[in-house]
Amino acid sequence: MTTGKINVSVENIFPLIKKFLYSDHEIFLRELVSNATDATLKLKHLTSIGEAKVDYGNPVIEVKIDKDNKKLHIIDQGLGMTAEEVEKYINQVAFSGAEEFLEKYKDSAKDSGIIGHFGLGFYSAFMVAEKVEIITKSYKDEPAAHWTCDGSPEFTLVPHDKTERGTEIILHIAEDSLEFLEEFKIRELLTKYNKFMPVPIKFGTKKEALPKPEDAGDDYKTEYVDVDNIINNPTPTWTKQPADLNEEDYKAFYRELYPMQFEEPLFNIHLNVDYPFNLTGILYFPKLDANLQVQKDKIQLYQNQVFVTDNVEGIVPEFLVMLRGVIDSPDIPLNVSRSYLQADGNVKKISNYITRKVADKLKSLFNENREDFESKWNDIKIVLEYGMLSEPKFYEKAGDFVLYPTVDGKYYTLAELKEAISANQTDKNGKLVVLYASNKDAQHSYIEIAAAKGYEVLLLDSPIVSHLIQKLESDNENLTFTRVDSDHIDKLIQKEDTQISKLSEEESTQLKTVLEEIVPKTNYTVQLEPMDSAAAPFIITQPEFMRRMKEMSQTGGGMFGMGNFPEMYNLVVNTNSELATTILKADKSVQESLVKQALDLAKISQGLLKGEELTAFVKRSFELIK
Ligand code: ADP
Ligand code: MG
Repeated sequence: MTTGKINVSVENIFPLIKKFLYSDHEIFLRELVSNATDATLKLKHLTSIGEAKVDYGNPVIEVKIDKDNKKLHIIDQGLGMTAEEVEKYINQVAFSGAEEFLEKYKDSAKDSGIIGHFGLGFYSAFMVAEKVEIITKSYKDEPAAHWTCDGSPEFTLVPHDKTERGTEIILHIAEDSLEFLEEFKIRELLTKYNKFMPVPIKFGTKKEALPKPEDAGDDYKTEYVDVDNIINNPTPTWTKQPADLNEEDYKAFYRELYPMQFEEPLFNIHLNVDYPFNLTGILYFPKLDANLQVQKDKIQLYQNQVFVTDNVEGIVPEFLVMLRGVIDSPDIPLNVSRSYLQADGNVKKISNYITRKVADKLKSLFNENREDFESKWNDIKIVLEYGMLSEPKFYEKAGDFVLYPTVDGKYYTLAELKEAISANQTDKNGKLVVLYASNKDAQHSYIEIAAAKGYEVLLLDSPIVSHLIQKLESDNENLTFTRVDSDHIDKLIQKEDTQISKLSEEESTQLKTVLEEIVPKTNYTVQLEPMDSAAAPFIITQPEFMRRMKEMSQTGGGMFGMGNFPEMYNLVVNTNSELATTILKADKSVQESLVKQALDLAKISQGLLKGEELTAFVKRSFELIK
């Protein structure tokens, strides 16, 4: 028998482990199952290169609860350890690693939440156990060893009569951790952390129906047998080659990841790179809710098929955190704080790689089946528009696939859009004027007017659209965006067949004076415009600049506080309308009521007439028709 003192200077390391890791006690199981997996895969390797002359077989890892004796067993059929190796790997190396870790992070670790991402390894067992035993038999021809440690730095190491190869870890669960003797708890943890680990994990048994015998009569009752309950899928889809997978495989994996999601993903992106860093995974574009409700199903981060976290902030570019799926990379440092993570070169590369892959995939989807891509546009645009704003590398590529839909259901790329409006929509400075609507219903009458002039009107209705427009304008010198209900009418050079004013210059001046006397100056700038006689006589528009600044300050990132803008509008009066002539010719008192009524009607169609004003308008209108 060997007894000894584990080689640490910090006598009270176990209380420290417990204290610091309080929030994530549960990771002990992940660590022990990881070790069992490592031991199995190491043996696989040794047998494959002929160094271990034993039969590898079909090894399984078993997790077993012994509730009566308050014990939890983790049993593997891996390479095992000799007594000497236990000394080396358990008593020295691992422990000093733990000590070093605790020394280093004593102060910062406590409330930073980073501890759970630490592979503290074997010693994490002491977070839940008051005593731990290792019974292990090496594949080498040496006797088995039995190591016991009760949480003090003292341990014992004696021979054991175990003959089968492999290691059994026995945890004597501490009184304050008895929940880890509950079947549902262990099942939950195995499902969370080990669902895709590469060696089969057995936990309990389940009933399986026997096939119905051929000579069974009508009264045959299905017979069941107990079979091993394997908790994991050792070969998850992301570990396979994209060439060996079809759409259905990807969809099936989505359901495996998110059993509670009934909506199918729109498309997926298979990540697969091994230089300069190693990363595999599958990302899915889900159908997103317009209001982006708090997301439960997030991207999951794995390392070598071991679940680590579903907080991928800093690793996945921010605009993609709404995606779902899996990323598996052993090259992401997990034992550091998030701010450090962002500065890490490898992590930045990974993030850039993901951005590039997503852009490439979008481009190929667009090229392969544009119609299908267009049909999905509404569901993906928020992510893409946000990506254009937040990720320069994505913005560079966006021109290839980002779409600008029109109110009548056409979809342009930016280049196509410029082409389409180049003949008809320029302003006095030669800039292309992009007209857009943010709400088809609310701006209906303005869309009609623009359509009558043959203008293209985009439908841009995402909440961040004013930011995007601002960016597009600053990057495309010859482009200016104007909402369809804003003051674009004087910006656009009139087409040749433009209407000539029916009013003489003198009459126009007269009309303008009349209008300016009646219409409140503080809110409206009166503007005369010869338009089709059938077009609305009075139209209210808002200066694009002013409205956009207001919107931007409301969706964040604006430079002004909310509500700092005066409500300024343009009142555009169609000089070719019958009403214009009527007003001009009417008596002074009639003029006033005509202008007021017409102004209110224009306000109504812009959704601006409310409250007291609306009541007065309705009352006045009844008077008129009585
Ligand atoms: P790590 O897994 O990061 O090396 P651990 O503290 O988890 O650190 O484990 C320390 C060492 O103990 C392992 O590297 C391995 O050599 C040995 N070990 C732990 N568990 C087992 C096991 N089930 N079978 C064989 N060796 C093991
Ligand atoms: Mg380990």
